[in-house]
Amino acid sequence: MLFDTHCHIQFQAYKNDREAVLKKSLEKGVLMNMVGTQKDTSRMAVELAEQYENIYASIGTHPIHLHSTHVDEEESSFLSREESFDWDYYADLAKHEKVIAIGECGLDLFHIPKDISKEEVLEKQRSVFQDHIRFALLHNLPMVIHCRDAHDELIEMLSQLEVLPKGTIHCYTSNWDHAEKYLDMGFYLGFTGVITFPPKKTDPLPQEWLLEVVNKIPLDRVVVETDSPYLTPQINRGKRNEPFLVEEVVRMFAKVRELSYEEAEKITTQNAKTLFQLPL
Ligand SMILES: [Zn+2]
Repeated sequence: MLFDTHCHIQFQAYKNDREAVLKKSLEKGVLMNMVGTQKDTSRMAVELAEQYENIYASIGTHPIHLHSTHVDEEESSFLSREESFDWDYYADLAKHEKVIAIGECGLDLFHIPKDISKEEVLEKQRSVFQDHIRFALLHNLPMVIHCRDAHDELIEMLSQLEVLPKGTIHCYTSNWDHAEKYLDMGFYLGFTGVITFPPKKTDPLPQEWLLEVVNKIPLDRVVVETDSPYLTPQINRGKRNEPFLVEEVVRMFAKVRELSYEEAEKITTQNAKTLFQLPL
């Protein structure tokens, strides 16, 4: 049994074949955490979780949705709609039994709107992320944390908290120095299909640093994810991602750690269940 700890099958990318995509992965025995990124995608995540036994939901506001900005990714491009953290709305969703985490939320200094300063963006992101932390602690739920180009800022913020939430740093792609700091604070790290990518010819170091983290992370702190529809593993790169392809992430993790596929599958699924407080 595999656990895709981070996917977005409620997104537009699946509007024509959502049910078929979910069934394919469910039939392969993949548990899923459907992650919301703003109000409507959080609600849709909860609705899917209510509909399917092995689907769970996370709710929250992604930092790119705090300002209206144009987002260009390898697989899609869209205009992000501006929202802030609507406490009552999320409190209502959090009552659902299958909500297992708060997020995705966090800091993103990669997508900065042209007309706003970096400082202003960061200040708003910090304040909304603080709301998510308070919310997660109040509801006793772990967090799904997004961080892009802002690890120093995030680590500084987390290290100043009196009470640390539990959670995972989703789509971890940074180095061991940052990883160690998150691990010391009790966080899990989530690996995606990015670990299956070959190093960039023009800039091979980031991939080496990432694989160093894959190689050194304590076995009880690793979780795997697809971040579908994004970050499709190398085997299908360029196409839309699907939750069952989390098997490629597990395969790469097993290879680096010299584990059998079955061992890596068992370890990552148990870790996800522990993190999300589900029965083992
Ligand atoms: Zn995501």
